Amino acid sequence: MRPVVLCFSGLDPSGGAGLQADIEAIAATKSHAAIACTALTIQDSQKVYGFTAIPAVHLVQQAETVLADLPVKVFKSGMLGTLENIAALEKLLATHALPFVLDPVLVANSGGSLMQQTHQQASASSVSEKMATTNEVVAAFKKLLPYASLVTPNSIELRQLAGKENLVEAAKQLCDWGAGAVLVKTAHEASTHSIQNSLYVAGEKVYQSITPRLAGEYHGSGCSLASAIAGKLAHGMSLVAACQQAENWLHGCLKQADVHHEGGQRIPNRGLM
Ligand code: PLP
Repeated sequence: MRPVVLCFSGLDPSGGAGLQADIEAIAATKSHAAIACTALTIQDSQKVYGFTAIPAVHLVQQAETVLADLPVKVFKSGMLGTLENIAALEKLLATHALPFVLDPVLVANSGGSLMQQTHQQASASSVSEKMATTNEVVAAFKKLLPYASLVTPNSIELRQLAGKENLVEAAKQLCDWGAGAVLVKTAHEASTHSIQNSLYVAGEKVYQSITPRLAGEYHGSGCSLASAIAGKLAHGMSLVAACQQAENWLHGCLKQADVHHEGGQRIPNRGLM
């Protein structure tokens, strides 16, 4: 069978981000995506309105059931939703030694937070009362770093996780805390005409890509990139080649993204081979 990537990710009903992005990106690499669902979000291409996190016990049951049945080659995580789910994933990683791509999703590209303290029902008022603090989220993610073959933060997430403003120093910090490699993505940086992503291994830059900046905002670009890399790693590809090829593929998906109306983010067209 095709190599299997087990993704820990949330449902985005717009289909731009989250588990649908994972499934489509991984299918494009000719790997198979299995999903342990972490949360059900309520969102469109413009805004996150709320979410219900899946209880950690259910998350673990989903993952263990798939692991007992399918030849999982790589783990990939996106939105985890709660501190409890991060801790549950940490335990799974400790008992199943597999390559792991960690996309440290803290907020949606459209701005809404995607992390609560504990599992609860979606509703605007209760969600805002029980959001996890940045310190709590950073402490929880730090424990995942030693298991990560690759971390794929955008620049906002990287600064929050490392507590450093300078992106190079921040990437080195994550390596010092145990991450196998860090792919620093700069699409959120104040605009230049190009986007420069850099891959750090053991604190050293081993690869840099320079891509022309496309007009518009995109929904699910981070999920798509991390999953495409995971799908390629599942075939045994080297990390540098997987990052290069996944970035080229994503650029094509964004160039052909669907533009539905002015206010919303564009949906990447991942149906490209
Ligand atoms: N996962 C889920 C379920 C989401 O809803 C989002 C954003 O809305 C993300 C991940 C992160 O998406 P992006 O790739 O745009 O950063």
